[in-house]
Amino acid sequence: MEFAMIGAGAMGLRYGILLQEAGNDVTFIDIWQPHIDKIREQGGVYVSRDHQDRHLVPIKLETPETYQGDPDMLIFFTKQMQLADFLKRCEHFFNDRQYAFTCMNGMGHIEKLQQYFADDKIIAGTALIATVLNGPGDVDFMGKRGAGKMNMANLTEKPDEMTHRLFDELQKAQMNPTLTTNFKGTLMTKVIFNSVINTLCTMFEIPMGELGNFEKAYDLGRQLIDEAYDICERAGITLVSTREEEMYALDINTRIDMPLHYPSMYQDMIHDRPTEVDYINGYIADLGREYHYEAKTHIFLTNLVHLAEYHRANEKQAREAEAAHTKTAQSA
Ligand code: NAD
Repeated sequence: MEFAMIGAGAMGLRYGILLQEAGNDVTFIDIWQPHIDKIREQGGVYVSRDHQDRHLVPIKLETPETYQGDPDMLIFFTKQMQLADFLKRCEHFFNDRQYAFTCMNGMGHIEKLQQYFADDKIIAGTALIATVLNGPGDVDFMGKRGAGKMNMANLTEKPDEMTHRLFDELQKAQMNPTLTTNFKGTLMTKVIFNSVINTLCTMFEIPMGELGNFEKAYDLGRQLIDEAYDICERAGITLVSTREEEMYALDINTRIDMPLHYPSMYQDMIHDRPTEVDYINGYIADLGREYHYEAKTHIFLTNLVHLAEYHRANEKQAREAEAAHTKTAQSA
């Protein structure tokens, strides 16, 4: 099958390289110039697994402007706030034969994809697969080969032949897919999961195990889960886990499965990039407003993450001013 990976960051590289190793034709499309330059200079991407076995993997890489292919499937792995720009820049190679697939975190991306693709060509899902981009041209796949799992569903909730072909390729690539016919419920269950783990770990810059082992972890999670589940009930969204199952998943994931892992939102925070919090806790809060429910804790948490972003931006500005001052003093 022919794939174009739109966004060759941590997850785009993980899915793309594993699909390539499973025998597919994969082209990566990206816009981050230092990353593009490094990959070209090295002749590929350095890939590690759990910080071990770092080796070079050759890939085909293009920018939206240079790509001329006609893939069967476009896989989108950008951050939520980058997607609109990528779609606009890639539009020239879209056609109505192609499918769009994504496992991005948060919500807001589906409406954007719908502006370019028909509903029966959109497949989305969720990924419980941790990957870290160490820097330009250097990616670390967390977890052993075959570890992690993912869900996928058609926007129309009617899987077709192409959905099954994608499912088979993902299975061959050892991504452990599960196909569901509950689109919104599948996506929202992961948004709620991320609204606890990603947000709290990012705000305090702690690994997942530290949250899971904290004596009040259950209370923190429960409050966020209850608000989000109350809202989904009002919105008529059937989540794929019960409240108790979601609490259990939070506990197992943080304490047992990935205690040393920092969630992807944390990677943005420490690199002084904007986080996806508005598309996770912020999305839950907005959905609540639509159904006359004030998600006080999610609103508070969204604002706290923005406070942390604001604090880091001020610190960065102060560091840059200090460095400029030192340079001027040295050259005087
Ligand atoms: P990423 O930040 O690694 O890459 C996304 C895009 O940002 C790519 O185009 C990349 O080249 C670019 N980029 C990366 N670092 C940059 C920098 N310093 N400056 C400028 N551009 C930069 O994102 P990701 O982790 O692949 O996430 C994609 C989507 O998948 C998100 O919605 C994320 O929440 C979700 N997700 C991530 C993980 C994970 O473990 N990384 C797991 C599940 C879901």
